[in-house]
Amino acid sequence: MRFEISKVLDAIEGRVCTDPSLARAVLDLAEVIRYQNLDSGRPASLLRLGMVIDALARELEEDSVPVYAVVHRALLSDADLTSNERMVVRRWADDGLVEVLDNPGDRMLEVADLLGLPVLSRARFDGLRGRFPWLVEQPGRVLAPVPGAGGPVFIAHVGGGNVPVAGSRSPAGAKLLARQWRCPEPGCALFGGGGGGGAFADLARVDRAPAGQPPPSLRNGVPICPRHGARLGDAGPRPRTEVLAVRIGGMVRRRFVLTEGQPVLVGRAPDQQGGIVLGQWLNDEARRWISRSHLRFELRATAPGRGAASDAPSWSGRGEVIVTDVSTNGSGIRPGGSMAEPDRVPLSPQQSRALAARDMVELYPGVQVGRAEDLPTGAPFTPTSVMAEAPTMAMRLPRP
Ligand SMILES: [Zn+2]
Repeated sequence: MRFEISKVLDAIEGRVCTDPSLARAVLDLAEVIRYQNLDSGRPASLLRLGMVIDALARELEEDSVPVYAVVHRALLSDADLTSNERMVVRRWADDGLVEVLDNPGDRMLEVADLLGLPVLSRARFDGLRGRFPWLVEQPGRVLAPVPGAGGPVFIAHVGGGNVPVAGSRSPAGAKLLARQWRCPEPGCALFGGGGGGGAFADLARVDRAPAGQPPPSLRNGVPICPRHGARLGDAGPRPRTEVLAVRIGGMVRRRFVLTEGQPVLVGRAPDQQGGIVLGQWLNDEARRWISRSHLRFELRATAPGRGAASDAPSWSGRGEVIVTDVSTNGSGIRPGGSMAEPDRVPLSPQQSRALAARDMVELYPGVQVGRAEDLPTGAPFTPTSVMAEAPTMAMRLPRP
């Protein structure tokens, strides 16, 4: 039993991150963990986080939706958690997967404001509506998890809907996220120095690009480390990024960040740290067709003269997504996202192409990669539960 619980906790670990491009909602870990009514279980349980993440995946109709968790420091030694759970939360803290704070205060709302994320909380935040007008103006920005028949469901504080709604990054957030920041505190897990290691030592597990630094906290307009309260140093422009998504059988299975100058391989089981593994979602036919490494994606700066002036921050230009087929069997391009067969353009092995607006690459019928904002999700499938002990599921794909 203990062994299975650790596997579940490992799966949950893959769904917590402070990457501004990947997190889909903000929550207060202590609140979720202590929400006893959710399952009428122990006073504190880390498994409730998995239940809330599953609920989020159901509402967004996507697999693998990560949450941005703000954690009160006291939780690291909370006696109501099992020793195993405490160890896991400490590991998340050390790896910068969660934000550990001495006094979380309104940091959860600040993150939601800077990143434009929905908030999952039962709190009403009455005193903060002046500072964060979206609390009342945008239905679906704050939802309370409540017990439901098949696990938690959400109820919006305003408007009464069930689906978390993202806003847009605040102007301050856009400005902060254009730069990289460095905390003077040695070994800071959130804003570690440029010496390598630290927060980015284990990219494969953390699943975060180096461009995935969390948003600093703002105090009187000055960026500070939310963990240490220290003023952050400007470490130069943040690399340009683009969020891509993998859609299989009509549902987005995961998103990933493409960072300028760091190509990413996608395939059945690519031999690259940080490569995107599709094997667990494929049926036998698709597995035979799709190579271990099938596609390589790269983000390139657009040619000078196109787009913004040279002194503009790098994020203002979109960059160009280049796809190269590195497979045995080839792929296809769906121009503008068209699913009509005559529109499909073959992409032969070793061929490259820049993705135009809404273009998708198809590795095999029903297996597509494109910009996350261009890939509608949904489909008559239920997202894979993060609580499942072994999250493997062979999809039945449409026939070629
Ligand atoms: Zn720090």
